[in-house]
Amino acid sequence: MKANRIHNFNPGPAALPLPVLEEIQASFLDFEGTGMSITEVSHRSKQFEAVLNDAVDRTRRLLQLDDRFKVLFLQGGASLQFCMIPMNFLRDGENADYVNTGTWSTKAIKEARILNKQVQVVASSEDRNFSYIPREIAFTPDAAYVHITSNNTIKGTQWPAFPDSGAIPLVADMSSDILSRRFDASKFGLIYAGAQKNIGPAGVCMVIIRDDMLSRVPATLPTMLSYTTFADKNSLFNTPPCFAIYTVQIVLKWLEDTIGGLAPMAALNRRKADVLYGAIDASEFYRGTADTDSRSLMNVTFRLPSEDLEKRFVAQAMENGLGGLKGHRSVGGCRASIYNPTPLAAVEALVDFMRTFEKKNG
Ligand SMILES: *Cc1c(COP(=O)(O)O)cnc(C)c1O
Repeated sequence: MKANRIHNFNPGPAALPLPVLEEIQASFLDFEGTGMSITEVSHRSKQFEAVLNDAVDRTRRLLQLDDRFKVLFLQGGASLQFCMIPMNFLRDGENADYVNTGTWSTKAIKEARILNKQVQVVASSEDRNFSYIPREIAFTPDAAYVHITSNNTIKGTQWPAFPDSGAIPLVADMSSDILSRRFDASKFGLIYAGAQKNIGPAGVCMVIIRDDMLSRVPATLPTMLSYTTFADKNSLFNTPPCFAIYTVQIVLKWLEDTIGGLAPMAALNRRKADVLYGAIDASEFYRGTADTDSRSLMNVTFRLPSEDLEKRFVAQAMENGLGGLKGHRSVGGCRASIYNPTPLAAVEALVDFMRTFEKKNG
């Protein structure tokens, strides 16, 4: 039976590629001739270990990670990383730089301060409601790391290029744009991403950690809050979120083998964003909320002339098979999340609908 699927612009959990869902469906009752679902086998079975290792290997290849990096799969979402990072990397007397570019950065700063860690905000775009990415940043010379949020899911901004922090390791929350484009990973001490935006379902957080950062981890941490625990055991210290990791593996296989890797993925993401921002810029009716040079290619945030029109826009879009267009409850307006899995055809359907809606209501 053919499922009746909509164009899904949800911010997270978000759309997955249809071929990925179909592959999971096809192998669900009998995974590779085992007579069992992958959700029914031991996390220490050779079947699951192959899944986990393939997910790690594909991530390594896609991001061109060198031997210094480990790829881990943790629980607790991106939000647990907000406290694990300062716990693992800041000893007494040490400090870290944070750049505040929105809701998620603000939460990361708050968690570090709850732990009484010394963290300073070296740049912020709060003065204009986080509608841009700060440029000139004076890093603290002895900072243990610099924390940034690469894509601001709620505010619709994204670092066009990463800042040069010299010898200070970058630590980045890439929850909403990991594996959407190429970048030089060697500058990063740690990268983390809740999977449910760009690379899989909820329930697993990918952590990429460099060996010099692992060597900073104190031995006094609770076992489950130490990166060392998971790095030493290939993410198999305790039962990991097996099904979420399996789904990530299938998404990575699609990204590498069907799309062809990060260069074609980035080109497609750029094209989708150009089509959508192009439509917004060509109209007086729709207005983008982020500065042009800081716009996100993943989360396109925009306003209509009134809140009433925004409500009707979201409702009528849904009636036309276009879902998930409501802005985050903290900012209002509209937002189209167009992560890796979103096809160009979905964006074109949205732009068609926007033109029709404007004609009727503009
Ligand atoms: C969604 C999101 C988070 C929170 O992720 P959880 O997995 O729900 O903890 C953190 N950072 C960014 C950038 C996000 O988009």
